[in-house]
Amino acid sequence: MVRYVGKGVYGAVAIGKISVFQREEISVKRIHVEDVEAEKEKVNLAKEKSLAQLQEIYDKALKEVGEANAQIFKTHMTMLEDEDYNESIENIIETQKVNGEYAIAVTGDNFAAMFAAIEDNAYMQERATDVKDISNRLIRNLSQSSSLEGTENDKVIICADDLAPSETVSLDKEKVLAFVTAHGSSNSHTAILARNMNIPAIIGVGEEFLSGIEDGDYAIVDGFTGEVFVNPDQETTERLQEKQRQDLEKKKLLLDLKGKENITLDGTQINVYANIGSVDNIGAVLLNDAGGIGLFRSEFLYLESKDYPTEEEQFAAYKKVLESMAGKKVIIRTLDIGADKQVDYFGLGKEDNPALGYRAIRICLTRPEIFKTQLRALYRASVYGKLGIMFPMITSVSEVEKIKETCEQVKQELKEQGLSYSEDVELGIMIETPAAAVISDRLAPLVDFFSVGTNDLTQYTLACDRQNPNLESFCDTHHEAILRLIEMAATNAHKYGAWIGICGELAADVTLTETFLRMGIDELSVSPGFVLKVRNQIRNIDLS
Ligand code: PEP
Ligand code: MG
Repeated sequence: MVRYVGKGVYGAVAIGKISVFQREEISVKRIHVEDVEAEKEKVNLAKEKSLAQLQEIYDKALKEVGEANAQIFKTHMTMLEDEDYNESIENIIETQKVNGEYAIAVTGDNFAAMFAAIEDNAYMQERATDVKDISNRLIRNLSQSSSLEGTENDKVIICADDLAPSETVSLDKEKVLAFVTAHGSSNSHTAILARNMNIPAIIGVGEEFLSGIEDGDYAIVDGFTGEVFVNPDQETTERLQEKQRQDLEKKKLLLDLKGKENITLDGTQINVYANIGSVDNIGAVLLNDAGGIGLFRSEFLYLESKDYPTEEEQFAAYKKVLESMAGKKVIIRTLDIGADKQVDYFGLGKEDNPALGYRAIRICLTRPEIFKTQLRALYRASVYGKLGIMFPMITSVSEVEKIKETCEQVKQELKEQGLSYSEDVELGIMIETPAAAVISDRLAPLVDFFSVGTNDLTQYTLACDRQNPNLESFCDTHHEAILRLIEMAATNAHKYGAWIGICGELAADVTLTETFLRMGIDELSVSPGFVLKVRNQIRNIDLS
């Protein structure tokens, strides 16, 4: 047995087999073959397997994210059957007497270069990525190299050096028991995603971890203590099985709180909402009886997509969330791309300090076509429920004024086109920069609500990069400066008739629940799995 220690970011125990995360970097060797017919037949079989996988992915995507988003997999299937593409592979095998993998790689590169060279045609250029994607799938299936998708039927513990948010969202969640990463920090979006999905996760176990494990190793992940036991002995296995049983029992007990109010012993009420990153998380929101959605990180729609999601695609996603919440409040945050959430098709250049750079509202205000598309989709969806729109990374009054102007323009356009929207949409801003907290007296009169993003507020106040695991010991999330900024924002919100919530990870820290209640915080929005835990805490507090 070997024990590794990192930092647990979601408390639960997972027991199962390890799968070492494979990046899609495939290196292909050119090998001479004699029997070209047999090689062509192998390619054919790999093609059939790829088509079957794509059909499966398409069916799953259709159920989870709708027709428009699933369409890409149909496109992949069509490309895979393209005559020119297949002929090229066969010709290379025949004329050069080489292995299928090599023929596919060359064909993929040629076709991708051809698509990429079509100037001023973003659609065709995008197909360059697709043709590389299908070629990689074909090569993987031909060489039988293992990847998470399609080959493993059991749930596995994903182990990686680190996972980018885009990699995390593309994993098949149905097959993930836990995450363990050698690097990473607890406020990174990968950690947040793990919490949103109720998946035990450990970060920062160190470099030596990856060299000490192999695919298929049996392991236990203790998300409470941050320990990973690889090939655990009998005693450890029994102890952690018992811990897992007790945890599940405790979580079951919390379920008794479903349907109960979030009310303190002396009668103070507060809203407890849930944070989500995807339409898929709604099940967990409803299961845990959240009073609403306090933060829908809409940028994950962009991260999951290969191109800018269209107005229709976004409209469908927002409508689905609003309808599923059946009249409960849903706060959707506009695009917060940039920093650790990079999307290739945005073409954002490299920055020395991306967290201090071109991100979130700064992109929206300088690329109004992207911003307006999202706002149109949001306003159109607003008739299907109770919508609040929230804007990230605010630092000034003029930004809020510009945002409100854009919202008015969008509403006017919709009206002129005869498209309906609700007049009751609340507009709010995130308080996640010290600047916003300090000028909260100027911002509050302009909006309906504030939502404190403690993850960024902490990094910007303490000058501690939230992505850097070496800074965790300097990053005191309870630092007086942060609490004072939150209190300042709460006082100013109420003075000017706005309400205030907290949607950063600190909202789920039950050692601060009483402090937040005493500040007058009106809403706490947490990962779905923490809703009942926070409710339990609130119900045991006496403010009198
Ligand atoms: C925050 O900064 O606290 C927040 C909620 O937003 P994100 O974590 O997505 O940056
Ligand atoms: Mg933030």
